[in-house]
Amino acid sequence: MDALAALGFSDFFRAQLTEQELAAGLVVGRVVAQHRGEWDIITADGPRRAILAGRHYDERGTTLVLGRIQPTVGDWVLLAEPDDGKLWVIERLLDRRSHLERGVAGRRRESQTIVANVDLVVIVCAVPRPDTQDAAAGRSVNPRRIERYLAAVAQGGAEGLILINKADLSPDAGRLATELGERFAPCGVLAVSALDEGGLDTLRERLVPGLTVSLVGLSGVGKSSIVNALLGRSAQRTSAEREHDARGRHTTTHRELFVTETGALLVDTPGMREFALSGDADDDVGGFDDVLEVAGLCRFRDCRHKDEPGCAVRAAVERGELLPERLSSYHKLSGELDQQKAMKRRIETRSTSKRDGRGPLRGTGARKRAR
Ligand code: GDP
Ligand code: ZN
Repeated sequence: MDALAALGFSDFFRAQLTEQELAAGLVVGRVVAQHRGEWDIITADGPRRAILAGRHYDERGTTLVLGRIQPTVGDWVLLAEPDDGKLWVIERLLDRRSHLERGVAGRRRESQTIVANVDLVVIVCAVPRPDTQDAAAGRSVNPRRIERYLAAVAQGGAEGLILINKADLSPDAGRLATELGERFAPCGVLAVSALDEGGLDTLRERLVPGLTVSLVGLSGVGKSSIVNALLGRSAQRTSAEREHDARGRHTTTHRELFVTETGALLVDTPGMREFALSGDADDDVGGFDDVLEVAGLCRFRDCRHKDEPGCAVRAAVERGELLPERLSSYHKLSGELDQQKAMKRRIETRSTSKRDGRGPLRGTGARKRAR
């Protein structure tokens, strides 16, 4: 396998190269990270930092002429060598074979590509565990949410695989995997444990060289743990290393695309995290029955349990009846969810007023029909 094939370059992309481009000596590369107006790109000869060719911008040089050509992690591009300085130039973005988009189904102009050319999207859930302080586990096997993930995956032309993680915590994991397998066939379902490595070899078998894979799922379900297991100890990036990256971008090439031990390409971008929550009005923060039960006693029905007077939840924490960690993870997750909902409302308001000028209420109906 040559160096480009090892990065996922297949005949689909190779066939797009023209003779002129080859004659001009343009270099093929894959986007591994995106910054403001600059991209980190890996080529057969190593990493390159690049900007978009000037003709992709308007006359002021600030706005992209075509909203959708923004190269994204996973994209294949053609680069021209710089004649002066250090930055290479992205001359062309090759057609995508698949992608994962965040946005509203059926409204392509409003959506944002998170990963390009992803072959397999692994949807990570964790087994429910009734007695748990582990908030994520209790709320994350949500068939409706899985359904939405799968819809986005199918829409982008990728394949999906459902992982039920933390199988070590529950004897029901296998049964749950079978049930979900029946419900979501032909999508595969695997019960795994990042902790004791159970089931991970079956996952590794799917991660063949050159395959591009991404993990999605709510925070806390174990994505980082699985990623670390797949990358192997040596490739693991500790949080200290990540901090170092953030400080020293000019020295370290920042990456969001990694090679797994089995030779697959793993995309892990900050955008994957936001993709996890759809922002649908019915997407609630589940698994917090203990918090919600007490919340029924708050003075205000819309109490956010922050600094409102008469908050029963904070009172319960003060009395030691509710762990402070429970309240802070509730705040964290409901905060993420609120952001997603707000973003979605903005998108709907914009696209509805553009389309028929009737305002956001109509948009709600249109959204329902679109799904
Ligand atoms: P992420 O937010 O999805 O990246 O989740 P993390 O990988 O950070 O995991 C969240 C928590 O779950 C951590 O405390 C992990 O140690 C724990 N965890 C992850 N995978 C497993 C697993 O398979 N079994 C058990 N028991 N705990 C796990
Ligand atoms: Zn309250």
